[in-house]
Amino acid sequence: MLKTGLRLKFLLFFLLILVVPFSLLMLISVRRAEDAARQDFSRRLATAGSLFRETLVDLMNSLRIKAKTVADFDFYAAAKDGFTASTTLPLMQDRLLRSGIDYLALVSEKTKVLLDEGSPPAASLQTILPAVCHSPLTSNLFILNQEPWIFAGAEITKLRNQEKYHVVFAVRLPRDFADKIKRITGAEYSLIYSGQRILTTLMDIYGKRMIEALTPLPDVDHGETQVLGKVHSFVREEVLPGEISETILLEISLPESDFTKLGRGLQGDVLFFGGIGILLALTTGSLLYMHVGTPLVRLTEVTTQVAGGNFAIDLSSDRNDEIGLLHRNFTAMVRSIRDERDQKMRRMEELNTLFEISNAVNFITDSEELLKFVLTHAVEILGSERGSIMLLDDETDELVVKVAYGGRYRVTSSTPVKLGNGICGLVAKEGKARICNTGFKDLQFKNFGSLLPVEDIKTLLCSPLKFKEGTIGIINVVNKRDGKDFAESDLSLLNLIASQAAVTIENNKLYELSITDGLTRLFVHRYFHARISEEVLRARRYGLKLSLVMIDIDDFKNFNDVYGHQVGDQVLQRVAMTIKENIRMGIDIPCRYGGEEMSVILPETRAEEAFKTADRIRESIAALATSHPLGNLRITVSIGVAGYPSDAHDRDSLIMAADKALYSSKLNGKNCTTESSQSADSKVQS
Ligand code: GH3
Ligand code: MG
Ligand code: MG
Repeated sequence: MLKTGLRLKFLLFFLLILVVPFSLLMLISVRRAEDAARQDFSRRLATAGSLFRETLVDLMNSLRIKAKTVADFDFYAAAKDGFTASTTLPLMQDRLLRSGIDYLALVSEKTKVLLDEGSPPAASLQTILPAVCHSPLTSNLFILNQEPWIFAGAEITKLRNQEKYHVVFAVRLPRDFADKIKRITGAEYSLIYSGQRILTTLMDIYGKRMIEALTPLPDVDHGETQVLGKVHSFVREEVLPGEISETILLEISLPESDFTKLGRGLQGDVLFFGGIGILLALTTGSLLYMHVGTPLVRLTEVTTQVAGGNFAIDLSSDRNDEIGLLHRNFTAMVRSIRDERDQKMRRMEELNTLFEISNAVNFITDSEELLKFVLTHAVEILGSERGSIMLLDDETDELVVKVAYGGRYRVTSSTPVKLGNGICGLVAKEGKARICNTGFKDLQFKNFGSLLPVEDIKTLLCSPLKFKEGTIGIINVVNKRDGKDFAESDLSLLNLIASQAAVTIENNKLYELSITDGLTRLFVHRYFHARISEEVLRARRYGLKLSLVMIDIDDFKNFNDVYGHQVGDQVLQRVAMTIKENIRMGIDIPCRYGGEEMSVILPETRAEEAFKTADRIRESIAALATSHPLGNLRITVSIGVAGYPSDAHDRDSLIMAADKALYSSKLNGKNCTTESSQSADSKVQS
């Protein structure tokens, strides 16, 4: 769209600049030449026409004068025996011969031809003669036998008697009548009568007059014709309008004037140069488009890409002009924006990672999970292949691998690392991060029995996990994925993560302490309540099943009394351990409900399944044999099981139902498990 737009504009631009003004100029010139040609032709035509007519009229006038001169002759005086035809005719014949006319006649008053001489075609004389006699002193043009004749009549005046006689003269228009005029005007003349050429100056290439050849003629008053290979324009009009009784047309044809030729030439020129102009416009437009338009279009495309967030563009140009500079500057500008954006994004990612790590303690309670979470984020954000977290064992003062992530092999090394030993030991001891881009070749590097081939460690970053004054462990990441060295900025980032992670790990430790019972290592009563509420809500929301198991040691008061509290405490620990061994770790929630009462929350578990688990616990505890100086101690527990929503509709009723089932177990002789739904009819397992 854009491409077409610019290309079209360039083309229109050049058409407007080159072709339109040029063509307009040429058109005006052509129009002027045509006007001049038209005027010139009209003028020449008028001149040629008037010369023909004047010559014709002169001829007619001279004939009229001749007739008048003869008519004015005193025949009476000349003829001794009066005016008679026989005496007058010789006189007139004499004059006729001297006048060079083709016909003469003496006509009586009643237009009776008394005598005549000469050879006009006589067929129509009977109509011509009266016409000529009754309009004395006029001349007339008639066509007799396809030939133009001029007639002139005059009344004889000097007669003694009262009779009236007329003299009539006639001349045939000579065939070469217009040839002289043609030589002067350059025009061709023809007289046309009834569609036939009766007189013409037109000659064929052999010099023969073209009268016969050019018949019949089309009935037009102007047009173009070819005369000996040349274009002639012709007009046809009445030869002497209103002066003669016949309708005779005069055709005047003139070769086209130089102006007309010029006009024609100019028309050709306009077409030729117009074509060249369009060609030039196309070429110039295309060249300009190639050199200016194309780079601009490319720039526009690239700006569109950049606007869409794609900064991976390259507009490199080796042109030395402004466009090349524009492309290079734009590329540099985009690169700097991209770098800045990348930096900001990395910063954002870093902040996000730190935030997530600090926030992790809120949703990850399991310490190993938490360490894995921290390590995964550190490895990913630093673009490294793998990493591990080692924590310091307070008692042995050794670093122990807690979690590992990434790489082709699982880190299985469990060899503790002494403080100050190897790179990790040094970092932990000194509390100072290290960057080691020589990897396993580093002098401080030591292999602690990892299954990983040491050659795999090319670059290494190690940061201490510091909390308050002390170091609680280290975090290390190995090999950058892009094969590059770790930079100082990477180390700073790992330090930031490490310090945040240390706080998070410590917080988690504190949290774990706060929800764990010191004696049994089960969750405390407060935690039990928080979790049972949560799980009931979750089960309700998602339509899940949920079970609660309540466990109470049988006759424990008595046990304490016999063996003492310390042994009682040990028993509590063994019972708690046995409970843990029989449930799903990480899913079921074992708690110390209070005193020697324990509970297990079993999410997504039906009461029947929970019953099986509970009874398995009961059996395992009953099977425990604790040795004591007073003999083998046997412990049994009574258990109550309730399910949601089968036995209860909310948290409190669920606890109550489980309690009631436990009470049933006690009533039924202890060391047995009762399911709430069956507690009414006291169905028990023992
Ligand atoms: P029953 O079979 O009906 O449960 O009889 P019981 O004697 O076990 O009665 P009860 O469950 O009421 O007994 C609670 C006793 O548990 C009281 C106390 O001596 C003992 N006890 C509670 N907490 C602890 C403790 O932390 N350590 C020790 N050693 N004993 C405890
Ligand atoms: Mg008890
Ligand atoms: Mg009790």
